[in-house]
Amino acid sequence: MHTCSFCSNAVDQDHGVLGVDVGISHACSSRAAGQVALGLPKPERSSTTVASQARCSFCYMRSAATSALFESRGLHICVDCISLIQREILELPFEAAQLANGIYAFPHALPPNKSLERTREG
Ligand SMILES: [Zn+2]
Ligand SMILES: [Zn+2]
Repeated sequence: MHTCSFCSNAVDQDHGVLGVDVGISHACSSRAAGQVALGLPKPERSSTTVASQARCSFCYMRSAATSALFESRGLHICVDCISLIQREILELPFEAAQLANGIYAFPHALPPNKSLERTREG
């Protein structure tokens, strides 16, 4: 069974995107996309060597030096991968505000008892 690397929920091909050793649920990619659309404050880390060498765990193409990455538990997903998932897989419009290259904290879901609304489908 595969799990989302960001929220730990089980995911399959219908509910998420699976990489080699990683996975992301559609709920998580949508949350990240929402954050991208809103724009982000400065990256948490943008200038250290370690940060700029961090690569997207899905495409292995983008690094924090060339893109904006979301990080959770040492894994990363780049804005390009999030955009691709939204547009190509979920067929949703995707708009990105201008983002500085670097590493951003992944926008995790609020704990269930604190969330104000249920937005999950199904
Ligand atoms: Zn998830
Ligand atoms: Zn990527």
